[in-house]
Amino acid sequence: MKDQRQPRILIADELAPVAMEVFRRRGLEPEVRTGLSPDALIEAAREVDAIVVRSASKITRQVIENATHLRVIGRAGIGVDNIDIHAATEHGVVVMNTPHGNATTTAELAVALMLGLARHLPQADRMVRSGVWKKKRLMGTEVAGKTLGVIGLGRIGRLVAERGRGLGMKVCGHDPYLEVEGVGTAVPGVELLELETLLERADFVSLHVPLTDSTRNLISWKRLANIKEGARLIHVSRGGVVDEEAVLDALNSGRLAGAAFDVFCEEPPPKDHPLLQRDDVLLTPHLGASSEEAQLRVASDIAEEISTFLLEGVAENALNAPSLPADALQELAPFLLLAEKLGSFLAQKIDGPMRKVEFEVAGEVTRFGVDHLRLAFLVGCLRHSLDTPVNFVNAPTLARERGILILENSQEEANYRQGEIRVRASERTGGKIHSIRGAVFGRDPRITAIENVHLDLPLRGPLLATRHRDLPGVLGAIGQVLGRHQVNIRRLELGPSREGSEELAYGFLTLYSDPPQEAVAEVAQLEAIEQVQLIRL
Ligand code: NAD
Repeated sequence: MKDQRQPRILIADELAPVAMEVFRRRGLEPEVRTGLSPDALIEAAREVDAIVVRSASKITRQVIENATHLRVIGRAGIGVDNIDIHAATEHGVVVMNTPHGNATTTAELAVALMLGLARHLPQADRMVRSGVWKKKRLMGTEVAGKTLGVIGLGRIGRLVAERGRGLGMKVCGHDPYLEVEGVGTAVPGVELLELETLLERADFVSLHVPLTDSTRNLISWKRLANIKEGARLIHVSRGGVVDEEAVLDALNSGRLAGAAFDVFCEEPPPKDHPLLQRDDVLLTPHLGASSEEAQLRVASDIAEEISTFLLEGVAENALNAPSLPADALQELAPFLLLAEKLGSFLAQKIDGPMRKVEFEVAGEVTRFGVDHLRLAFLVGCLRHSLDTPVNFVNAPTLARERGILILENSQEEANYRQGEIRVRASERTGGKIHSIRGAVFGRDPRITAIENVHLDLPLRGPLLATRHRDLPGVLGAIGQVLGRHQVNIRRLELGPSREGSEELAYGFLTLYSDPPQEAVAEVAQLEAIEQVQLIRL
């Protein structure tokens, strides 16, 4: 029989009061219990249908597994690092966020920092307060007529570009994942350039990329060596995208005329951080999303989304779930997880834009159709290069904008009765093809082949993928490097590679923990290693 009781909602973090107003208007009465200890949170969540959080409460696997009525978790904001999204997916619990609340506020901060740098506003303020009135030392520069280079043309980057044009600037951009031919319509008035060309041309460089393996230290010492003399850098994306030491060098040499940081490798930065000692640097404490409007917007958005889901069953901005009846979602959940992981694997393996994807589903699971699995796959692919939110609603548009062509196919016959997913994807540059397959056993999704090597890999932990000359002692050498860095190997699978003239093999090492970057670099230096990649499943 259907559960007729009024849905119970737990608000576990401080939210703007407007959230409560929205819930009440929709006839719902949440319980507000903030600042709970981990054990108290497990207890408080046991009987509820929905939990709403910001970033303070951690919604762990344990919370989810003990909350037997739980149907939805809402995050007022974007980042969902505090929610175990995989545990939620496994249990058919929908996770939703509020993707549109922060973009304008963050874009406006980038513009404010740009103008602040151009007119030395922090120095001017300090000077007047200390009784000094020396305007000559504060000679500024206009931004009108100058070139703004926007790196990362997602939601925030596009708003910054638009505002730059409004200020009379020439705007260029760099985003390797955007389809070049489609750019005229996707980002009007923005000339798309290679990163190096953008850095040579722009007077102001504003960063709006997510932190991924390929954007870590994107603004490196080498790139700064070729940046336009006297350029200014604005960093409101994520700590780690900029090499802070390299920026200090570029400021010292005069190559950079100034830099603004809202985000840092370590937050807050240590008191003796050299950036804090400089006058040509403008610093803010991760203020990007801090405006009254953004806080009100995320609180009211999440209350609307949760109410709509509980009362009408429609999942808006769901990060992990298609709109499916609960029992179908329950059955499909391990396949959705598999499809998403296969997408994530390929996006990391290719580490650049994809062109064509052949997506095939086989076996009993085809009775649910291919659509949801294809969407889950796209979510996995796109999440790697976007800083959330990719969901079942926007994944097709984002994929189209990025020029990903997806061809799908389904057939009843499969190597694994319950169901199997087989994917082949080509790189946009070079056209090299990569392939991966996976299946579900019971409720356990596993990778069954990578690049034609048959495997049995659980979707767990970081994976070190190698292509190496098939010589004695190679695996021992890899194991020694990992061991020196205290990284334990959980599982190891091997298979012959058909590429190259020499006898090459693939190795897939499932690890217990993320190896440090130096460990991966040391493996890459081993003599027999042709290629090594760290892939997070
Ligand atoms: P988004 O996902 O909408 O856009 C990110 C864009 O970066 C995408 O278009 C993607 O294709 C592009 N990209 C990925 N890799 C790239 C690369 N190597 N080179 C160039 N472009 C690349 O994200 P968003 O919402 O616009 O957020 C952008 C950044 O701003 C994120 O890092 C986010 O965490 C950060 N942010 C900061 C604050 C703050 O408080 N300072 C607030 C909100 C967001």
